[in-house]
Amino acid sequence: MTDSPLHTPSEIELSISAMQHNLHFIKKFVKKNVKISSVIKGNAYGHGIEIYVPAAEQCGIDHFAVFSVDEAIRSAKVKRQETELMIMGWIPENEMPWVLQNNVQFWIFETGRLSYSLEMAKQLGVKAQIHIEMETGMNRTGLSHADLEEVWPLLEKYRDSFSLVGVCTHLAGAESIANHVRIQRQIKRFRVMVNLFRARSYEPDMLHVSSSAATIAYPAFQFDMVRIGILQYGYWPSRETFIHYISRRKNKKDPLHHIISWRSCVMAVKQVKQGEFVSYGTTYLATEDKTIAIIPTGYAHGYSRSLSNSGRVLIRGQRLSVIGMINMNMLIADISSLEDVKVGEVVTLIGDQEGASISVSSFTELSDQLNYELLTRLPTGINRRLTT
Ligand SMILES: *Cc1c(COP(=O)(O)O)cnc(C)c1O
Repeated sequence: MTDSPLHTPSEIELSISAMQHNLHFIKKFVKKNVKISSVIKGNAYGHGIEIYVPAAEQCGIDHFAVFSVDEAIRSAKVKRQETELMIMGWIPENEMPWVLQNNVQFWIFETGRLSYSLEMAKQLGVKAQIHIEMETGMNRTGLSHADLEEVWPLLEKYRDSFSLVGVCTHLAGAESIANHVRIQRQIKRFRVMVNLFRARSYEPDMLHVSSSAATIAYPAFQFDMVRIGILQYGYWPSRETFIHYISRRKNKKDPLHHIISWRSCVMAVKQVKQGEFVSYGTTYLATEDKTIAIIPTGYAHGYSRSLSNSGRVLIRGQRLSVIGMINMNMLIADISSLEDVKVGEVVTLIGDQEGASISVSSFTELSDQLNYELLTRLPTGINRRLTT
């Protein structure tokens, strides 16, 4: 429960104990001496980079992976000095000096970036901290076998201006057994390419290929580091990964805890007479006298319009229906089953309340979005705070 009035119309709470619990679970899966990189792209999957990073450090994380340089800059402002940062994607050329001077690790997936970053590193007198990403079958980013012919002379020319922190790839769809053959083929290609580096005496500090799904489904491919995104936040990469995990256990309870709760409050209460319509249009007709609560959260705050007339919220631990269309800044819930609801009472949009729970998954099944998508759509502007 929120003990103080909300400053913004809704608030996101992150549970430190859930975070610790999830990391403990992940560590049981990850072999000794395998580093865990906490993936915090997409504003830490909507949890909020600024609040998530220091909290994860407290739980023992010392390596973070972001997609783009702007996320790295935000992370750098809040992380400990010695914590490592890795950019897996976007860096415009004019931001490369910042990356180099701050010892931020970054992925090389095209030769242009390799040549200009190493030239800049040389001029700045620093070592570029590079991970070379290989194309092994996902056909997204990554250097092909043929590209390596351009890579070798560059590595030779700039021998003193880089550290080969990693050679890596990304597995396409480890969350589904249907991709098993494709993944085996990717690993085979990966090993061949890694050997090409070794044959030229470039020994990478780390090999890494696995996201959450692969870490669970293919323990043999953990190599030196795993890149864990969705699991640390308490969600499974797919239903299939969860079933795969749980089918081998006696205890069928989901071992992960959701970190995030999203709370709002009752802004107004009113009575609606039988036969009246509620909200815009005629999508909701009161078939009997109703008591409704107006809640100051709408699609502008990330509460999807597709939850109109179908979403659920919790008040006093009771699941209540969202009725009528979701507005830009408001939604309406049917509170007829509750007595005497007061303005200011806590409304849980996602999370637990008095034993009841609304998960992002139940939310997403309704609105037909993946956990990943819904989480990352939680707006950056909502107040976020830590709870125990
Ligand atoms: C997002 C991402 C991950 C983490 O994926 P999860 O499924 O959330 O664990 C790992 N590696 C790369 C390259 C990614 O883009």
